[in-house]
Amino acid sequence: MLKLFNSLTRTIEEFKPIKPDQVGLYTCGPTVYNYAHIGNLRTMIMSDLLRRVFEYNAYEVKQIMNITDVGHLTSDADTGEDKMEKNAKTKQDVLAIAEKYTKSFLNDLKALNIESPTIMPKASEHVAEQIEMIESLINKGFAYQSDEAVYFDVSKFPEYNKLIGQNLDEMKLGARQEVVQDPKKKNPIDFVLWFKTVGRYENHILRWDSPWGTGFPGWHIECSAMSNKYLGMTFDIHTAGIDLKFPHNTNEIAQSESANGKPFANFWLHGEHLLIQDGRMGKSEGNFITLQTLIDKGFNPLAFRYLVLTSHYRSKLNFTWESLQAAQNALNNLNQEVSSFDEPRVGCAQFEQDFLQAVNNDLDTPKAIAIMWDLIKTDEFPASAKAQTLFKFDQVLGLKLEETWKKSKAIPKEVQKLVDEREEARKTKDFAKSDELRKEIETAGYLLDDTLDGYKIKKKF
Ligand code: AMP
Ligand code: ZN
Repeated sequence: MLKLFNSLTRTIEEFKPIKPDQVGLYTCGPTVYNYAHIGNLRTMIMSDLLRRVFEYNAYEVKQIMNITDVGHLTSDADTGEDKMEKNAKTKQDVLAIAEKYTKSFLNDLKALNIESPTIMPKASEHVAEQIEMIESLINKGFAYQSDEAVYFDVSKFPEYNKLIGQNLDEMKLGARQEVVQDPKKKNPIDFVLWFKTVGRYENHILRWDSPWGTGFPGWHIECSAMSNKYLGMTFDIHTAGIDLKFPHNTNEIAQSESANGKPFANFWLHGEHLLIQDGRMGKSEGNFITLQTLIDKGFNPLAFRYLVLTSHYRSKLNFTWESLQAAQNALNNLNQEVSSFDEPRVGCAQFEQDFLQAVNNDLDTPKAIAIMWDLIKTDEFPASAKAQTLFKFDQVLGLKLEETWKKSKAIPKEVQKLVDEREEARKTKDFAKSDELRKEIETAGYLLDDTLDGYKIKKKF
């Protein structure tokens, strides 16, 4: 039984899919105006982990992750510049910025062994769908127009605060009240569905024709429109970082449930933040670290994945270089152990059961990692059985252990030549030469063990 903490109900619930054996998963993706930081990537690893746990439980997963390339303003309160246009003068500039950072994001996903989402739709390529949904909201009386924008009328959706679980007065509305108000906006909490390219957005570069004149969509409507298109009105599960609960995810629910008259996502999973020096890592905070920086410092990107797995997704994780180094050391040890494994056979049933229970208990990866180390250290099973089970665990952990094992078995020709020469030297009892050759083999990154059955060679990590 797979249990997950559903942020919508604030309880641990048994996961039940809408269609048997299938899961529709929507993940809020990046705004591609800058490099993703390792905080963003923590949330992507969480969504990947969830997807892998579904697959481990034999579900087929359809995962949609949007690319935000229009409409996300510098402030959540529908004010400020469009993030995508801050450093752009022409449409060509915006497209080039989006392409550059989308490419970099995809490279990050690959380096972290995050499975590719089934579809990654771009907001700017789904404006027709967004317009259609806004029209439907207007027709049903959930939205209204001013000279500047089309707004969602929050007063028409009494369940507006159900995700955040606080009453509306307690919600952070300060920023909205401070800004210059559109005189036709009925309520400060109403949010924008469509910006007209007039007044403060007169020079907005990306613009489309619509029933309300030329303009561009607000940020929240893209996720409602694209999840609708690719997963249907009601789908299984939605993931994002915790900061998106309000206003973004709250507004998605309001838009979709009002337009469709049906529930939106049955489950919501929110990942806690990656912190740095106890503050949230953020693109606008100026304290962010990219995956490339870790790589440039000599870390394996999978060491960051390992670090993320050692904390539960609902706990804050304070990033330090020391903790990353510890994760790198642990990963090196793991790879070292794996490289000495024999051909996988049979497996260790009890460990497999414990592991499944851990990951099915709201993705308890710290426990799953502990079980993995217990497996490696046990004397109860031969290395071939450990290999079989460990490679199975890695379908969830995603640390490329089988790949490491295979690579460690493939000895480069030059190294094999040194090994053969050493065997020859040993046979002729030329121990000085044999020792010399062992050192050369080590320098080439391999370790040689002499056993009763002959030598064993493995890669050094
Ligand atoms: P953005 O590109 O800013 O739209 O964010 C992409 C994803 O990263 C969202 O799900 C955010 O909630 C998430 N996110 C942003 N900052 C952090 C952080 N410091 N730790 C974890 N996730 C974050
Ligand atoms: Zn979203």
